[in-house]
Amino acid sequence: MIGGGSTGAGVARDAAMRGLKTVLVERKDLADGTTGRFHGLMHSGGRYAVKDPDAAKECIAENLILRRTASDCIEDTGGLFVTTPWDDPAFGDSFVVGCEATGIPVEEIAVSEALRREPRLDPGISRAFTVPDAALDPWKLVWACARSAQEHGAQILLYHRVVDLERDGQRVTGALVRNELTGEELQIHADVVVNAAGAWAGQVAELAGCRVSVLPGKGIMIAMNHRLVNTVVNRCKMPADGDILVPIRTVCVIGTTDVRVADPDELEVTQSEIDEMLDEGEKLVPGFREARALRVWAGARPLFSQEEVADTREVSRSHALLDHRDRDGVEGIVTITGGKTTTFRLMAQAAVDAACAQLGIERPCRTHEEPLPDSEDGSFYVLGSRLRAREPVPQSEEIICECELITRQRLEEAMERRRTGNLDDIRRTLRLGMGPCQGGFCIYRATGILHAVERLDHHAANVALLSFLQERWKGAHPILYGDQLRQARLDDWIFQGLLGVQHLPT
Ligand SMILES: Cc1cc2nc3c(=O)[nH]c(=O)nc-3n(C[C@H](O)[C@H](O)[C@H](O)COP(=O)(O)OP(=O)(O)OC[C@H]3O[C@@H](n4cnc5c(N)ncnc54)[C@H](O)[C@@H]3O)c2cc1C
Repeated sequence: MIGGGSTGAGVARDAAMRGLKTVLVERKDLADGTTGRFHGLMHSGGRYAVKDPDAAKECIAENLILRRTASDCIEDTGGLFVTTPWDDPAFGDSFVVGCEATGIPVEEIAVSEALRREPRLDPGISRAFTVPDAALDPWKLVWACARSAQEHGAQILLYHRVVDLERDGQRVTGALVRNELTGEELQIHADVVVNAAGAWAGQVAELAGCRVSVLPGKGIMIAMNHRLVNTVVNRCKMPADGDILVPIRTVCVIGTTDVRVADPDELEVTQSEIDEMLDEGEKLVPGFREARALRVWAGARPLFSQEEVADTREVSRSHALLDHRDRDGVEGIVTITGGKTTTFRLMAQAAVDAACAQLGIERPCRTHEEPLPDSEDGSFYVLGSRLRAREPVPQSEEIICECELITRQRLEEAMERRRTGNLDDIRRTLRLGMGPCQGGFCIYRATGILHAVERLDHHAANVALLSFLQERWKGAHPILYGDQLRQARLDDWIFQGLLGVQHLPT
C-alpha cells in the first residue's frame, strides 16, 4: 500500500480486515498530503448534483455510511445552498431536480428561516436549500483507519518513501523503500501493490512502467479565526471558486480555487487568489474581509483524466480504479485515484476488490458495516466537548495550548504514542498550535515538554521548534493584516525578542 492519505489508510484498513498481510508506506506523516489540506467538507453530493451526477451519487451513499461508521470524525453541521444576489435564482430549480435524481435529501426553506439559522449571511439571499453536508476531521479519520488496520495486523511505515517498484518481467513483485529520517533502504516483497499516492499516483505508477494521467488541481483555502457560520454554506450555482464556507472546530474555512499545476509539491499561493477568496467570502458573509484571517494553505486534487483538459474544474470528481493487469499488461499493481475524501471508503473497497481478484481470492468487504475505533457508539463530535469535559474542575490540569484546550497529560500521551520528535506530527494529532495565536503561546511550552520527556536532546528540540515556526510562518505571512498582523508581531516578540530563537544552537 503506497500513500498515507484517506485513500491509503482506508485501503490498509480494508485489506487488513479481509485478512491480507498489509504494509502501508507513506513518505511523510499520515494525512500530510492532500487529505490533511482539504476543505473539511463531508459532501452530501449537492455540489455535484447538476454538473457531475455520478460523483453526487457516490458522495451521498458514502455520506450515509460514514455517519454510521465514522461518527467521531464528523460534526453534523448540516448544509445550506443559498442564492446570493450574484447567483441566478433559476439555478435553484435545476439544483432540486439534480438532488432528487441523485438521491440527495433536499428541502427549500424560507429565506427568513435560513437567516435565523445563520444570521451573518447576506440578507439579500433570495433562496435557501438544506442538504446533509457535514464537517469531517481528516486527521481523526486517517488515524482511526490506521489504528483499525494495525489492530488487524497491518504495519504502518511513516517517513518511508517508495523510490522504486521491483519487477520480474511483467509482474510487480515489491518496492524499494527509503527511510526519509535515516536514509536506510528496505525491500518489501508484495504480491500486490496498491498505488494510492493521490496527486503523486502518476509518479508512482511510472516506477512500474505504467502511465497514469493524474492532473494536480491546486486549491487554496483560508481559515478565519472563528465560526462565522455554524452550517456548511455553499453558493447555489455551478461549482466555482470561493463558493463554500465550512465551519471546522473553532474556525471556519473559505475555499477554494482550482488551477492545474505541474508539480503537486510546488503549490504557490498568490495574492490575487487570496483577494479572490476574501471577496467571495464577502458575498456570503458581509464584513468577511474585516474578520481575522489566520492562515492560508493549498492542496493538490488528484484529478484523473483520460484526455487532455484545459480546465481542471471540467474533470469528474468520481474516482478511478486502474487495474494495470488489464490496462497495461503489468500484474501485481492497482492504482486508485481521483475521488474525494468523502468517498475514500468506497475507493478503498474498489482497490482491495481488485487486489483480491489479482490474488485469485474472494473476501467480502466489511468497512461499510464495522465502525471505526471511537465511533462505536455512533455519536458525532460536538463543538465544545473539550471545554465541557474540563469545566467541572477547571484547575485540574495544566493547559499547554489554550486555543485548542490541550492539557499537558494529553500532550505527553500523544508524544508517547506518536514516538516522534516532529512538532508538526503532534500538531496533526492534537491540533496543537492551530488556533488564533498559531502556536505563539503553546509551541515553546510543547518543545520544552518534548525535550523533558526525553524524546529529543536540546539540539534536536531547537531544530523542531524552528521548523515548526517556519511552517506556521509560511501559512501566515501572505495574509497578514488587521488583528492577525498584531498577533504575528506579538509572536515575533516572544520568539525573536524574548527567546532569541535565531541564536539557538542547532
Ligand atoms: C483544495 C482542496 C479542497 C478539497 N476539499 C474537499 C472537501 O471538502 N471534501 C472532500 O471530500 N474532498 C475534498 N478534496 C479532495 C480530497 O482532499 C482528495 O481527493 C483526497 O484527500 C485525496 O486523498 P488521497 O489519499 O487519495 O491522497 P493524499 O491525501 O494526497 O495521499 C497521498 C499520499 O501519498 C504519499 N506519497 C506520494 N508519493 C509517495 C511515495 N513515493 N512513497 C510513499 N508515499 C508517497 C503522499 O505523501 C501523500 O500523503 C479537496 C481537495 C483539494 C485540493
